[in-house]
Amino acid sequence: MIRVTSDQVCYSMSSANKPVLEVNQNERFCVETEDCYSGKLKSPEDRFTKAMWDTVNPATGPISILGTEPGRPLRIEIVDIRTRHYAVMSVERDAGALGRFIENSETTILPIENKRLILDGTLSIPIQPMIGVIGTAPAGKPVLNGTPGEHGGNMDCKLITAGSVVYLPVNTKGALLAIGDLHALMGDGEVCICGAEVSGEVILKAAQVDSRMPTPCVETESHFHFIGSALTLDECERIVLDKAHTFLTNIGKMSSNDAARAMSLLCDLCVCQVVDPLKTMRFSVPKLLLNR
Ligand code: CA
Ligand code: CA
Repeated sequence: MIRVTSDQVCYSMSSANKPVLEVNQNERFCVETEDCYSGKLKSPEDRFTKAMWDTVNPATGPISILGTEPGRPLRIEIVDIRTRHYAVMSVERDAGALGRFIENSETTILPIENKRLILDGTLSIPIQPMIGVIGTAPAGKPVLNGTPGEHGGNMDCKLITAGSVVYLPVNTKGALLAIGDLHALMGDGEVCICGAEVSGEVILKAAQVDSRMPTPCVETESHFHFIGSALTLDECERIVLDKAHTFLTNIGKMSSNDAARAMSLLCDLCVCQVVDPLKTMRFSVPKLLLNR
């Protein structure tokens, strides 16, 4: 299987980035990723410093998906996510609304044993590896990997796991896919700014599909989850509702009012994260609405 190593990174998503690899559509490939701290925090003595902001959130890539052209969405199947044997968390006093509870900045190494994260020596939790940063080249200016947007990027949606499918826009020839910021575990909101930050590798395949699917979107076994990012959660809500309503009326062939009623009765509005430069929400539409 073709493999991209974690030293081939970009720090922003841009149509000007040169691809580090070309793959065929539907060809499986492996992307190695460094953690969001670029691997610089390896022990409790290592502290996050302002100088490290230049190298946070490296994304491996970009990878050119051969034969893709601007227009239809890219369908990315996440086949597997493997992590190394420890995760890192750096908590800071300026960590959003939660920062007031942080007595002093601290780096914590959390061992991963038998696919369980050891939290405090006694409590261990099954890991749920997810991809924090996954994006294609944006339509306009470059976007730093710390920021989410219509191109994907730092969405920090915990549903982007092995077995899920991600739909992203193709804004440039080859799409220019880049991936990084794996988390072994993260709760919705990511309220302390970091998840269980971990390096690892992702096995995936991608192809452009003939669909009017609004993007970014994550497909799980039972739902389509439409994702939107903006400065405020109110704006995020409007974006994700627009996408879900467009989906239900265009692809689901529902009337406008039927779609609105179904959205209120059967769909869930959730926060992905509130700590990045833009906040991110998702709106989850059950697939049963398509089976009428
Ligand atoms: Ca992130
Ligand atoms: Ca992260």
